[in-house]
Amino acid sequence: MNSRAAANQAYVILKRLRQQMEEQTDISVRLNNSMSVIAEEMQVDAAFCFVNIDDNYLELFAAHGFAAESMHKVSLRIGEGVIGGIAKDCRPCAVSDYKKHPRYLYKADLGEDDYKSFLGVPLIRRNKAIGVLVIESRDIREFTDREQETLETIAMFLADIVSSDEMSEYKKTLIKERGLITRERIKGLSLSKGYGLGNAVIHRRRHAVTKIFTEDKEKELDRLTAAHQKMNADLDAKFNSTKLGIGEHMDILDAYLMFARDKGWFKKIADNVMSGMTAEAAVERSYEDMWNRLSATTDVYLKERLHDLRDVADRLQSYLSGDFGESGKSDSENIVIIAQTMGPAELMDYEYTKIRGLIIEDGTPTMHVAIVAKALNIPVIAKIKGLFEEVKSGELIAVDGNEGYVYLQPSDDIRRKFQEKIDENKKLQAKFAELRHHLSQSLDGVRIGHYINVGLAFDLDYIESTNCDGIGLYRTEIPFMASDVMPDVERQISCYKELMDKAGKRKVIFRSLDVGSDKLLPYWAGLSEENPAIGWRSIRITLDRRAILRKQMRAFLEAAAGKELNVMFPMIADLEEFEEARETLMLELEKEKRAARPVPAKVNVGLMIEVPAIVFQLDEILEKADFISVGTNDLAQFVFACDRGNPRLTERYDVLSAPFLRLMRLIAAKAAEHGVYCSVCGEMASNPIEALALIGLGFRNLSSSGSSFGRVKSMIRSMNVEEVSDYMQLLLNSSKKTLRPQLMAYAYDHGIEIY
Ligand code: PEP
Ligand code: MG
Repeated sequence: MNSRAAANQAYVILKRLRQQMEEQTDISVRLNNSMSVIAEEMQVDAAFCFVNIDDNYLELFAAHGFAAESMHKVSLRIGEGVIGGIAKDCRPCAVSDYKKHPRYLYKADLGEDDYKSFLGVPLIRRNKAIGVLVIESRDIREFTDREQETLETIAMFLADIVSSDEMSEYKKTLIKERGLITRERIKGLSLSKGYGLGNAVIHRRRHAVTKIFTEDKEKELDRLTAAHQKMNADLDAKFNSTKLGIGEHMDILDAYLMFARDKGWFKKIADNVMSGMTAEAAVERSYEDMWNRLSATTDVYLKERLHDLRDVADRLQSYLSGDFGESGKSDSENIVIIAQTMGPAELMDYEYTKIRGLIIEDGTPTMHVAIVAKALNIPVIAKIKGLFEEVKSGELIAVDGNEGYVYLQPSDDIRRKFQEKIDENKKLQAKFAELRHHLSQSLDGVRIGHYINVGLAFDLDYIESTNCDGIGLYRTEIPFMASDVMPDVERQISCYKELMDKAGKRKVIFRSLDVGSDKLLPYWAGLSEENPAIGWRSIRITLDRRAILRKQMRAFLEAAAGKELNVMFPMIADLEEFEEARETLMLELEKEKRAARPVPAKVNVGLMIEVPAIVFQLDEILEKADFISVGTNDLAQFVFACDRGNPRLTERYDVLSAPFLRLMRLIAAKAAEHGVYCSVCGEMASNPIEALALIGLGFRNLSSSGSSFGRVKSMIRSMNVEEVSDYMQLLLNSSKKTLRPQLMAYAYDHGIEIY
């Protein structure tokens, strides 16, 4: 049979299946009958279909050629036997003598004893197998590629039936009958913090492909071209008007648009149309092809691009059908979006001021939609399986992004607690906003230099809203991480200039590229190292790849032309590293001068105190450096030999303990002795109780995250520096594992505001 004959055969079968699915009988009956149609048309003795009952199990839902009693009695784990393997790997499998297959598993309930040859294909939805369709024959025979193609086309049709609302209702009834309880509180993975309460909007863009073949290819091609053009024009308009501003978000959207405009992708769809498929089926087929190629890769970045491709494919389907589903539409003023997967553009189909939460079944922390949602202050929870099918549109959902819980139809009590938290948060935000008119100054008149940390473009808004003294840490690696390619000097200059312009007269401290360990660049193959946190990272990379450092220095110099430039180097472990890095900057400065390009009015060079060894060279380094900033996140990880990214260890050691605080006191004292500007830009400066201790130890400059600036400021404005300093001296004699309770009690007794 040639390809055309296979297409014809599939066409005939699908026509019969569609007619049969329109019958007014139970879905279970129709599914069963469809197996008979498949067996008859494919001229085999048996046809049957396993469907995923949950994340781990497949169950026999329909069969021809088997005893009716085996229905819903036979189940397999995903990965178990040949059929479970097809579901796990999402790959078809054909064998002429089934029982000789190494993964063959005898299931007495199924009664396959008579059958020899086997052909199984996965039913795929959203990159996952949602079932397996199998045909079997009594004789030993080879199934041809064409037969496999035909069965795959039928599987596309069945996948739509299996993922239909009707089917999910049927599955729910089965679950209920078996006495399984539905869930009320579900644990997921928090990708963005915050609390949200709203009505569920099921993000269902995916349209069932009901017509697979066409007789009028030209007309289909015209439809496809028109839909593709309109989609791209609308995307351009949407992204040009997005509220997200420039910076790394635009890179995310650019990456997305790349798929939408990709000529190769479009050509593949057009080729499918020319082979006789409808535009809709052609889009699906080309997506599946791409998915088959990319899904096996271990490259996280490439895998995540599949989400973008899914998003673009769904979008194109909407343009083809003219049906834009529920996306963006809800009467409620408070919505919680539930999606299986989502691209950044889809999130923007919703009115973002109404979004109170986002739940993504297949989410990972680095997926683009999570980065965008975080920038919009939307709590995001990922890795909750089955929710998409479980929840009904409009149902009330509470999202706890702090703990990573989702509450389905929360009780009155939980609802009240959530509302309290949300209201409390609103009031506090209003109070913090008001603080912008006041100084970060203590009750006894000590002025604290109070800065913010910046990374995402969204952080830039905090400069004005907090009225901070400046940017104490600009994490330049974040635009590098969000970009698809290494940003060139021009791109860097425009990024840094934007920050300088927004900062106006305020101080800005640029940190050189701090990548490696947990901060991976998508375009650099990740090195697999035994201990990445103490591996080839940060300044170690940029000193070894000097061209990158030189380019970044040039971009800093040009962006700060005529102004003060402050550059600091991260992870410096010895004097020589600092001198080499500074020398690189100075050489670039000389080059700029020689080329008669405008240079900064003043250049200050500093370093981060993150590696314990440097603390023992402070006298020498403070002679050379113009300023220092303590990166307490890394410093604590190295002092306690405790991986900062390991959730098991998060509460094991406390920075509020005598050893760490003594070390901090030493740093502050040395800097004061040498008259060198010194600040703290690690998380300690963003946590009010820890910031209180830092000020008590002598630190007078803090750089907090934009979102915690108000909390720290209200603490500063309610403390007495002299009194706290005296108390800290006493406290440092304690040998307790943590001094947090004492400090909290002190703050409470002295009316210091700790939110
Ligand atoms: C730190 O280590 O404290 C720091 C501010 O740097 P980062 O968190 O970016 O490693
Ligand atoms: Mg660090």
